[in-house]
Amino acid sequence: MNSIAYLALGSNMGDRELNLLRAVAEIGKIRDVRITALSGFYDTEPVGPVTQDPFINAVLRCEISLGPHQLLDELQRIETGVFRRSRDIPQGPRTMDLDILFFDDLVISDDRLTIPHPRLHQRRFVLVPLCEIAPDLVHPLIRDSVKTILDSLPAGERVVRV
Ligand code: AMP
Repeated sequence: MNSIAYLALGSNMGDRELNLLRAVAEIGKIRDVRITALSGFYDTEPVGPVTQDPFINAVLRCEISLGPHQLLDELQRIETGVFRRSRDIPQGPRTMDLDILFFDDLVISDDRLTIPHPRLHQRRFVLVPLCEIAPDLVHPLIRDSVKTILDSLPAGERVVRV
């Protein structure tokens, strides 16, 4: 295992907590991935233009010997194959959303992947669980720690530990 990745998990359809538990199990089954930390689960107010039900969100840390694009392939296989997720309403309700937040301190911007995730530094529903497992992790572009970024956000959407 030669890299460390941080992943965000979210669900706002069906049994949200069960969906997250199942996603953690599926990620743990990926060959060449070992989960090394998991945040608590948070009930969160949806962000963005679509009116929809609240999410449950969590963040995990894993050691991994896949590359970032191979990891994205595996996460998309879980979203569509395991959760039967379709992509009809952009930013709309979903049984499972899996995002790569960080992959070592790589900076990637291509047609499939943006790493660090481009909106993570504005989202309490990512930063609050991330701060639980990696408060001192430094964002490679912003060059502040996760805790500093979270502390500097204005009060925003509801993020409550389940
Ligand atoms: P979504 O519908 O929110 O799951 O967005 C998925 C799309 O975002 C896919 O087409 C991915 O190729 C793209 N994407 C770009 N950067 C990332 C990232 N860091 N993690 C996950 N998906 C990403």
